[in-house]
Amino acid sequence: MADRKSLALIAHDQKKDDLAAFAKANEAVLAGWKIVATGTTGGRVLDVCPGLDVTRLKSGPLGGDQQIGALIATGDVDCLIFFVDPLTPMPHDVDVKALMRLAIVYDIPMALNRATAEQLIDFRRN
Ligand code: PGA
Repeated sequence: MADRKSLALIAHDQKKDDLAAFAKANEAVLAGWKIVATGTTGGRVLDVCPGLDVTRLKSGPLGGDQQIGALIATGDVDCLIFFVDPLTPMPHDVDVKALMRLAIVYDIPMALNRATAEQLIDFRRN
């Protein structure tokens, strides 16, 4: 399906279990999306939902967040779900900020925690 919308999924390490549970719980809805994800996050999603269309990019600290930012800038990502860990310092914090900034610049829907992601998925389903 060429015109399927593209969804980016990212979770920081302390939030990966939560994102995997979110993906499993919403597997049927996510099956309607073309998904791009940072490397480790994408692997975790595929572990629980092997049938989803997930393209894994580089790991976040190695440039994956910037790759997703570039896809937002080129109009190739329509929606961002990013489970952020607010309690752990990140070596790639500047990349995380840059990614969020581009999501705002290009005005795409962005969920930064599970509660908002559930709302976003539910909204996009309709
Ligand atoms: P990861 O990257 O999915 O490769 O762990 C996420 C991040 O930390 O930005």
